[in-house]
Parts: sequence; C-alpha cells; structure tokens
Amino acid sequence: MEAIQRIHHISAIVGDPNENVRFYRDVLRLRLIKQTVNFDDPGVYHLYFGDHAVTPGTVITFFPWTNNNQGRKGSGQVGRIAFRVPQGSLNHWQEHLTSKDIQVESTQLFGKDTLEFTDIHGLDLAIVEGEETAVNQDILGFHGSVLLSGNPEGTKELLTGRMGLTELESDDQNLHFETVGKEKHHIITLNPPQPAGRFGIGTVHHIAWAVPDEDTLKKWQSALQEDGFGVTVVKDRNYFNSIYMSEKGHVVFEFATIGPGFDVDEDIDSLGTALKLPKQYEHKRQEYETLLPRLDV
Ligand code: ZN
Repeated sequence: MEAIQRIHHISAIVGDPNENVRFYRDVLRLRLIKQTVNFDDPGVYHLYFGDHAVTPGTVITFFPWTNNNQGRKGSGQVGRIAFRVPQGSLNHWQEHLTSKDIQVESTQLFGKDTLEFTDIHGLDLAIVEGEETAVNQDILGFHGSVLLSGNPEGTKELLTGRMGLTELESDDQNLHFETVGKEKHHIITLNPPQPAGRFGIGTVHHIAWAVPDEDTLKKWQSALQEDGFGVTVVKDRNYFNSIYMSEKGHVVFEFATIGPGFDVDEDIDSLGTALKLPKQYEHKRQEYETLLPRLDV
C-alpha cells in the first residue's frame, strides 16, 4: 500500500456559523465550498472551506455549535492548524492579521518563521511560508498541523510505520514529520503529553488523510485492523468515503477517498452558495432550514 501522500481535510468545532464564515472567508480569504449538515448530527451545519480553485488537500471544515459549549484543548486532539502561504508573503499576513485586530505571535514552531494566532472562536492557527511563488498572497493550503498526542511514541510508530511519513529533525519537545506527497504536509507531536482535552468550541475534532479510492480505503481498513486499531465501517460522506479510528495517542484519524468530490451535488462555480443535504436528510429540508441560523453568504 502506498504511503499517505497528504492531508485530505481537517475538521474543527467552532461557534456561531456567521462569525465562522466571516473569519475564514473575509479574513483568511478562503472560499466557502460547501454548506451542509453534520451527517451524524444534522441539526448542526458542516461548513467546508478551501482555496478558490478547490484544490484537493486545502479543505478545512467546521461544525459551528451554537450552544456555547467551550472545549478544552489537550491530548487526544489535533492542535494548531498551519496554513501555507507563498514565498515572500509572511509580512503581508502579519500586517493583514494585525490590521484586523488579531494578535499574532512570531515563533519557530514549524522549524521556520511561523505566525501563530487564533480564530474568532479560539481555534489555534498558524501561517508558514512555503517555497512556492504565486500571483497573489492567498493561502495555498495546509502547511500541516500539530497533533496533541497522549502517546507521542505510539503516534510516531503509526505515522512513520504504516502511514509512511518521514521523520525530520526533531528535538526533545517536538517530533517533526512530513508526508511524502508533493504537498509535504508537516506534522508535529508535542512532548510531554498534555492533560486530556475535551471536544467543544475552539478545538479540532479530527484530521483526515487522503487515500486514492474506495478499494484502497478498504485496504487501509484491514491493515489498521490488523495493527490492532478499532476502525469504523466505511461511511458515505457524499463528497468522499471515510473510515475513522483513534490512534495510540487518542487523536481521531480519518482516512478519506479523494472522490467523488464537491461537485457531485452542485456546479463548481456555485459551490457553497446553497444548503446541500445528503439524500437521507433531503425529506427534512424544511425542518433544517427553519432550525439552522441563516447564513450570510
Ligand atoms: Zn472529516
């Protein structure tokens, strides 16, 4: 089985959906590419954002909770999510974020200049420059993420073993890995493990890794089961198929197919402009449209 090439998407829990849209669309200049509901909890939106070309591997998704249930960051979660921007654009982003009254801290978290900040709901984010140049300064996709593993050695074993990530230079605090695909997504685990987190607003729910197709997904399911992990059945997520598992550090990993893609239920040009429901919920559309806060898009 081929090594994991890249991140498929990362999904986080945030607060008010309109505040979420304003932050990721207007401040980070991503494109809202899908308005749907959480297929496991359909009274909650599931909002997907990507780059403007809807490039695979640039997708960040949100479950915007309106119940004020704050989470606690800690082990068993994905930590800070880093976006990659074109070479030479870090100053632009520092000035841009500061102009929006966002506090930015300059660090070396990803082994190079890193801008650390939080979104409107306290989700930890970062911006790191890539080696690519571009016509504008927009986000190119993920640079990577931190994993708040409860068992960094166990997490390392899965990442560098079965999943085929490469270990980069690490120190006592941080183990640093990268995916082998052209995106070279960077994954960091922090040592020592923090106290356990609790899911809620301002925390990341899971990270999904891209696999080419459903046959390969089933092979991953068997291989991970052979490794002793509890793995879910294949779930139909409409835009991709997925399996889920908890790795040894209790971080939720999803493995998701690249297709069929976000244009299965709407035109590529109008992605994200209307509420899309999977067929099992279409008959309750009126109920959801009444229940869900109106999105200002
Ligand atoms: Zn997911």
